[in-house]
Amino acid sequence: MANPLDPARRLQLVVGDITGLAVDAIVNAANRALAGGGGVDGAIHRAAGPELKRHTDAHYAGCPTGDCVISPGFGLKARHVIHCVGPVWRGGGADEDRLLAGCYARALALAAANGIASIAFPAISTGIYGFPADRAAGIAISTIVKDLILYDDIERVIFVCFNEAAADHYRAQLAALGKGIGPVE
Ligand code: ADP
Repeated sequence: MANPLDPARRLQLVVGDITGLAVDAIVNAANRALAGGGGVDGAIHRAAGPELKRHTDAHYAGCPTGDCVISPGFGLKARHVIHCVGPVWRGGGADEDRLLAGCYARALALAAANGIASIAFPAISTGIYGFPADRAAGIAISTIVKDLILYDDIERVIFVCFNEAAADHYRAQLAALGKGIGPVE
């Protein structure tokens, strides 16, 4: 029988809007100024309410690319938001892969340090920041599968795709890894 702590058994793929998820933490694709903005960042700030921006302004002087900070979820169903700053895609020669992997690795470490058992990630950098979606899905999955072994208390990692085309990149990457995945909701 498969080990229930096998990282692949803790992964889930969801197609939909990350702002509606009732999990311990949702991850935001933020910018370095933590200024809010468009895409998933704007949606998270709208759903959380103005307290979220007041909180990050009061506690953080921005965040470097490849890193993340944590805040409460305020008006969200999620208890926390982990704000990751993904790299802007510049053609692949500007350390983008390592910086994107860093987002996933650091977010997982920050989640574990805060007692978070369920965490949902959007496809960081694949919208306005232009990172190729298939390549980003491969980095997201390989980084999470590798690092989840370190954190037994993280029970569920959800990859949230905004549409079926985005989800297909994750399905393809998971199939390539030969990993099973929970039911798509
Ligand atoms: P970035 O600036 O890091 O590229 P974006 O917000 O522009 O961030 O896009 C990141 C990904 O999040 C894109 O794949 C986009 O389709 C997706 N996205 C946008 N809004 C939502 C949402 N409400 N829930 C989940 N994913 C979303």
